[in-house]
Amino acid sequence: MIVAMQEAATEEQIQSVIERMVELGFNVHRTTGAQQTILAGVGTPAHFDVHEFQVCSGVHEAYRISSPYKLAGRSFRPEGTIVRFANGVSIGGDEVVVMAGPCSVESREQILLSAQQVAASGAKFLRGGAFKPRSSPYSFQGMGLEGLKLLREVGDITGLLVISEVMEISQIELMLPYVDCFQVGARNMQNFNLLRELGYVRKPVLLKRGIAATIEEVLLSAEYILAGGNYDLVLCERGIRTFETYTRNTMDISAIPVLKKLTHLPVVADPSHGVGRRDMVPAMAFASVAAGADGLLMEMHPNPEKAFSDGAQSLFPQQLDKLMDGLRALAPVVGRYIAKPAYAL
Ligand code: PEP
Ligand code: MN
Repeated sequence: MIVAMQEAATEEQIQSVIERMVELGFNVHRTTGAQQTILAGVGTPAHFDVHEFQVCSGVHEAYRISSPYKLAGRSFRPEGTIVRFANGVSIGGDEVVVMAGPCSVESREQILLSAQQVAASGAKFLRGGAFKPRSSPYSFQGMGLEGLKLLREVGDITGLLVISEVMEISQIELMLPYVDCFQVGARNMQNFNLLRELGYVRKPVLLKRGIAATIEEVLLSAEYILAGGNYDLVLCERGIRTFETYTRNTMDISAIPVLKKLTHLPVVADPSHGVGRRDMVPAMAFASVAAGADGLLMEMHPNPEKAFSDGAQSLFPQQLDKLMDGLRALAPVVGRYIAKPAYAL
């Protein structure tokens, strides 16, 4: 931490700041310039709040130098993390892994058809919510356990891995036998109790960015999961809320290279929730891969116009196919690849 004192700071004020820094465990290096005194605090005490120093009398400004997240920081694993799943699929390597499927599991017929189309497009994961966080309590809330069983069944039929959202601690146990990856939704990014529990689970987690979360907050949420010992963690940019209303959210493409710089964790992008309209999903998907995304999470529905949730942002099956062809061509430009489909309709 660096504390720059005001030009008019008294020696008493400077000493009081130094005392507090020492008390917290900092090794303090003082530079007394012609105009101003600078205090450099070396070391990273477990508990300290830079804001405490910003409001101390005589202080002009205080900055944090080291990051508040330790396990999520790039320096913890400079080579990057590769999260490995069954079927030899991994996220964080050279392959760009695509996860696709409907917003919600609606019926056996709908999810089976979805899985077949997703597998035929060359995606590796089937997505689908069995527990749905809906803005209105009167909207479809998901099929629950029945939906999970269907996801597993059709995932196994088509050779797809399964990702589905976990909304609360009590669902973890229930979901374990059915999913290959837990999805933590935007609304739960700061459900710290849930994050802590997922840290004790030995199954990968995909953590989505909250609608108003800063990148630092995403990384601090990731830290909760890592602190429990679960290193199989993937982050997901899914758009944030801004003053713009044309799109559902504002897809923060720049968060992808920023996260890749700050953390060793793989980063995937969800352009569906990022823009909320299917006509703009392909452009954002291309942009995400070009920006360095390790994967994509996208909504596709066999009949989007009849979808129980998020139909407007769900791709038609043929659109997903076409997009996958385009992405397969783009990926090598940024040193990545997307494998050809191993499943045919
Ligand atoms: C979803 O993936 O369907 C979903 C609810 O996403 P988010 O948490 O990003 O809104
Ligand atoms: Mn959705």
